[in-house]
Amino acid sequence: MRRIVIVGAGLTGLSAAYHLCARGAEPMVLERSGTVGGACRTLTREGFHFDLTGHLLHLAREESHELLRALGVRGALRPHRRRAGIALAGTVTPYPIQINTYRLPREIRRECVLGFVEAHARASGRGEAPASFAAWALDRFGEGFARHFFLPYNRKLFCTDPAELTTEWVGRYVPRPEVADVIAGAFGLYRTPVGYNAAFLYPKVGGIQIVADALARSLPAVRLGCQVRSVRLGAREVELESGETLGWDALVATAPLSHLAAMTADLPAAARAAAARLRAVAVVNLNLGVRGPAPRREHWLYVPEERFPFYRVGIPSNHGRVAPPGCHTLSVEVSVPAGAPVPAGLRERCLAGLAELGLLRDAGDVAVVEEVRLDPAYAIFDAVRPAAVAALRDAFRAAGVTVAGRWAEWKYSTMEDALWDGAAVARRLAR
Ligand SMILES: Cc1cc2nc3c(=O)[nH]c(=O)nc-3n(C[C@H](O)[C@H](O)[C@H](O)COP(=O)(O)OP(=O)(O)OC[C@H]3O[C@@H](n4cnc5c(N)ncnc54)[C@H](O)[C@@H]3O)c2cc1C
Repeated sequence: MRRIVIVGAGLTGLSAAYHLCARGAEPMVLERSGTVGGACRTLTREGFHFDLTGHLLHLAREESHELLRALGVRGALRPHRRRAGIALAGTVTPYPIQINTYRLPREIRRECVLGFVEAHARASGRGEAPASFAAWALDRFGEGFARHFFLPYNRKLFCTDPAELTTEWVGRYVPRPEVADVIAGAFGLYRTPVGYNAAFLYPKVGGIQIVADALARSLPAVRLGCQVRSVRLGAREVELESGETLGWDALVATAPLSHLAAMTADLPAAARAAAARLRAVAVVNLNLGVRGPAPRREHWLYVPEERFPFYRVGIPSNHGRVAPPGCHTLSVEVSVPAGAPVPAGLRERCLAGLAELGLLRDAGDVAVVEEVRLDPAYAIFDAVRPAAVAALRDAFRAAGVTVAGRWAEWKYSTMEDALWDGAAVARRLAR
């Protein structure tokens, strides 16, 4: 039988193994961590369950529900309609801002609506899309929306000048309304839910880990605590931290592309040069278990203003039972360049920012703090990314390695995508 080795037991690796097993293969999954799930893990501390930042299942495909049913986990998930807001100019207005300016101060509201109408009058959206995200945001949404939300928010999230970002990723993530919708939104009259994340599923009890656990239960074995130290393409081997060497006929790599390149001893020089061009940000995620009721009803808030260190704050206990009775949880997300140290005093600045936004009444109410880091968290979509990713993907594929998943393909994608990326790998290897 062909030896198939899968590096990583996140949703992509687990799903690849699950679908390979269904086709009669016997893949070996190697996971460096002590638990499965990758970015979709849940940490439990003193009765609080913390996901690694908000992890909500936005399902666009009917077969995803079928897969979750087959895994026996669909019944454990509850549907929700998004309650998200944007904290801006001392107030909170519902997300998305394009159709919800009505709670903003009048001057900002006027700038947003006027800018949108002016952009529309310039025939925006009907010509060729501008190459940079900054130009695209101005062209599609106008001066006000760009200045108050799109530019500062994305500058903070990607730690990058929005003029350096491209627009390949915006399609499903940034909805563009009609003029009538923007005007309705300025009066609080727009009601239809929009965007890829308007609805979601989340476990009734506990965190998102249950999805990965359900996949892992269906597999014969996952080797945990098993870090791959190096990959040798010519010899078709991986070497583990323990010194053990494993041969493979097909390798599925779900570790970040930049890490994979660094650990591959005999990667062609052109591919190694391409890896040096990949850029990403890491997310420092401060999880707080807090005594008392949640300060607001939203599931999460976007925070574009520069004076706050975080770009988003979640209130996960508003959509799941993740805190002991009488308590709630906050999930604070801060971007830093991949590999960069956590800025000094970050935790104190986050707590002060939460207090200023009315999200933390008293620092003395914080019962548990759990800081985690996702690194990389967001690939930076810049002009060099497409060619660099293609060069690496092709070099690996030529050597029998399939790169799959959000970080191995250096893309922006969801848990649902990871489940189907894994299924696609199984189909390809079965051919
Ligand atoms: C901040 C943030 C918020 C998100 N929110 C959502 C959301 O709300 N909804 C949603 O659908 N998606 C969300 N996502 C996306 C989601 O997390 C990913 O799409 C999904 O987790 C990708 O899974 P993966 O298996 O490809 O990668 P991973 O989960 O990273 O899995 C890769 C695995 O490989 C292992 N590994 C790495 N190197 C080695 C090695 N050398 N040896 C052995 N094992 C190794 C890692 O430990 C890891 O377990 C979010 C992502 C981020 C960053």
